[in-house]
Amino acid sequence: MRKWRRVYDALFVAKSRFTGRGLFAGTPIRARAKIGDYEGEVIGLAEARRRARGQRIVAIVELERHALDATRWKHGFRFINHSCDPNTFIRCTPQRAEFYALRAIRAGEELTCDYGESQHNGRLPCRCGAANCRGFI
Ligand SMILES: [Zn+2]
Repeated sequence: MRKWRRVYDALFVAKSRFTGRGLFAGTPIRARAKIGDYEGEVIGLAEARRRARGQRIVAIVELERHALDATRWKHGFRFINHSCDPNTFIRCTPQRAEFYALRAIRAGEELTCDYGESQHNGRLPCRCGAANCRGFI
C-alpha cells in the first residue's frame, strides 16, 4: 500500500471556515508529504469545458489529454477550498493532479490550495481572509 493512502483515506469533509464545506486532515501530515491524487470520472477536454460552462462550483480538473470530473465524488479534493495562503500545493503530471503538503499540517486542520488559473478566470470574490489575499479567484 502506498504511504499517502492512509493520509488520503483519513481526510474528511466538514463545514469550512471559509465557505460551504471543506476538506480536513484526519491525521498529522508532514511538510512536503504526498496527500493524494485528484479522483474523478475521466472525460475528454471538450466535454470538460461543456460541463463547466455556467457552473458556479466546478469540480473538474483539466490535465494534458483528459479531465477528471469529481462532481459525483463523496470524498477527496473536490472539497478542498482555495486560499491565497494555502497549506497544500498541486503538482500536475500528464495523467494526474497530485496534492502535497506545503508545510506541516495538524490533524483536524482544513486543507487549502491555490486554485491558480481556475475556470472562474478571476471573477469570483475570494473570502480566504489571508493577509496576502488577491481578492478574486
Ligand atoms: Zn484570497
